[in-house]
Amino acid sequence: VRAAILPLGPDAYDRAARLLNAGELVALPTETVYGLAADARSDAAIASIYEVKGRPSFNPLITHLLDPSTAPSYARLSDTAERLIQSFWPGPLTLVLPRIESNLALRAFAGLDTIALRCPDTPWRNGLKAAGWNSPLVMPSANLSGHVSPTTADHVATDLGDLIDLIIDGGACQRGVESTVLRIDQDQTTLLRSGAIDEDRLRSVVPDLIDVDPEAPIASPGMLSRHYAPEAPLRLNARAAKAGETLIGFGPEYGSPNLSPSGDLQEAARNLYALLRRLDGSDVKLSIAPIPETGLGKAINDRLRRAARGR
Ligand code: AMP
Ligand code: MG
Repeated sequence: VRAAILPLGPDAYDRAARLLNAGELVALPTETVYGLAADARSDAAIASIYEVKGRPSFNPLITHLLDPSTAPSYARLSDTAERLIQSFWPGPLTLVLPRIESNLALRAFAGLDTIALRCPDTPWRNGLKAAGWNSPLVMPSANLSGHVSPTTADHVATDLGDLIDLIIDGGACQRGVESTVLRIDQDQTTLLRSGAIDEDRLRSVVPDLIDVDPEAPIASPGMLSRHYAPEAPLRLNARAAKAGETLIGFGPEYGSPNLSPSGDLQEAARNLYALLRRLDGSDVKLSIAPIPETGLGKAINDRLRRAARGR
């Protein structure tokens, strides 16, 4: 493997800052999944993200800030946006906002007049600053396009180890599913993607939150594409394994493998992608027990429905 895998710490941050300065890519752990980072000011660096991942160019990226207070340099913030930032940053909430002129590259928002911003809850924000890196990073998940998102440094190495120079190892990701994505317009706030944020908490801050119309995917270009798919076929809401199937359980009625033997949705989210990766293959069939459509279960079911549609 070409990539060095270094634990969180000054050595890793120095190396990362040097690579980012040179327009290279670095894989970084976040509380959601591992990300593949590039300098958000550099069209060339961002272009190599699309190339390395094989990601369709119409699928815009999320710009990750090292500091919540820098958001007004990149987007117009409504009262609702300010409230959400106060309540959830740093954390797994992405806001799609009206973009303003800035030093960011056009590719950072795929040429759109909106920008997706998030401030992740990770120690490397301060670490990179200490190493002299102070700019926003664009960062999609650190997997080949179409593959299941990585939640360990090993997953990243499997997909990208020969294509990049550095993977920073922060252990298994705390949340295990991607960020929640909201679009904030003048008069309404729309939930574009369920994710790691508890929706009840979200609705307590934005009571009139609107669910995106699934028939109008234009609201978010990338969401058309089939993410998160294992190689094996996947059958949802399975109560028992059919012949030749491996059944992934959830809760005490099911055996092993099991997303969470105690039926805990947070644990299930943390285990989801690792289990899919471990069990996947060209010669297997997967099925998965019903997951309740409550709390984090909404994000898990969203990912499973995409996975079941195939690559
Ligand atoms: P990910 O694929 O997990 O990196 O998430 C990025 C997703 O955020 C994209 O697939 C889009 O659906 C969404 N997104 C990013 N930027 C924008 C934007 N400017 N407008 C709408 N959706 C966006
Ligand atoms: Mg992804």
